[in-house]
Amino acid sequence: MTQKSIPMTAEIKAFLLSIGTADVEDEKLVLPTLKSTAGPSAGSAGSVFIASNGKRVRLNLDEKSPIKIKKTEGDKNDEIAVYFSEKQSEKLIVTGKIEPALAHCPEQAYINLSEKCIYDCKFCSVPILQGHTKTKEESLKIIQNAFDKGGVKAISITSGVEKTPEGELERVLDLMPDLKKYNVPIGISIYAVSGGSEKLKKAGAAEIKYNIEVTDPEIFKDICPGLSETDVFSELGDAVQLFGRGKVFSNVIIGLGETDESVRIMIEKLAEIGVIACIRPIYVNELRKGDCFMERPSKERLLKLFEMQKEISQKYNLHPEKSETMCSLCSGCDMVPGRDD
Ligand code: SF4
Repeated sequence: MTQKSIPMTAEIKAFLLSIGTADVEDEKLVLPTLKSTAGPSAGSAGSVFIASNGKRVRLNLDEKSPIKIKKTEGDKNDEIAVYFSEKQSEKLIVTGKIEPALAHCPEQAYINLSEKCIYDCKFCSVPILQGHTKTKEESLKIIQNAFDKGGVKAISITSGVEKTPEGELERVLDLMPDLKKYNVPIGISIYAVSGGSEKLKKAGAAEIKYNIEVTDPEIFKDICPGLSETDVFSELGDAVQLFGRGKVFSNVIIGLGETDESVRIMIEKLAEIGVIACIRPIYVNELRKGDCFMERPSKERLLKLFEMQKEISQKYNLHPEKSETMCSLCSGCDMVPGRDD
């Protein structure tokens, strides 16, 4: 029997993101799975990318997940059907393909330089894991491997903070001359450093991301000790002067106890200065359970915030779908206006 085809819609993607995990029928289906080493979901068991109807979603692998991914009957290895399993019944929710990651995600050589952090944002497992810092040679090898696989549209670089934010900026700047030969846009997402945007621009970066993370200033103070929202804002503003409106990004995490109104205020505050927000559902990491309030947002909430962001993007003439690097290009973890409509 031929598999019924169900293309991904914004509603289906929001539902999958609200769950955030998937169980795969056959591990081989998603190999090689990749362990996340960056940001709040660092340390998770690996992830899978599903592509359908021009949309993409990334789900963390978890055998207890109610989302079940099964291979469809047919010749092609990557075609799958995704089911929602509840009370001993299974409902087909979407069909699509498994997408291979090149380095971290599909279509990009996306690399995390330092899997360590001196800060202690309470939702993030990187400070607990304190992983490896890659040497320049290791980083270049990962990037070259991605290009050897083919289809790289962008190089994106992120990093925790091994010792100082200035040290991470230097680590990136040291890598940049070796990346020019690939002739693809380069996106950089590191901790904001005064004067850093200018150096990154001169070194050839096309896009920049400095994360504001928390929309509510009171919650920010509690869960991101040692960081200053005002400093990040000031660096975002400076970056827009250099890179242009719509070429600067900031992650905004959803599910830390903030209200929808505080999210709206933050997205608009960012949009006013030309910054695109990446609305990121919190990944409730086991390593940080109990350290702060964390709740994966519902499908309904994600759709509401998506509509809000679409309106604000239009009002300020911002086009997340035109992003050339990083998360707004990938769109695996977020609802992206222009890509997920
Ligand atoms: S959206 Fe960003 S964090 Fe998520 S998989 Fe894509 S590049 Fe990685």
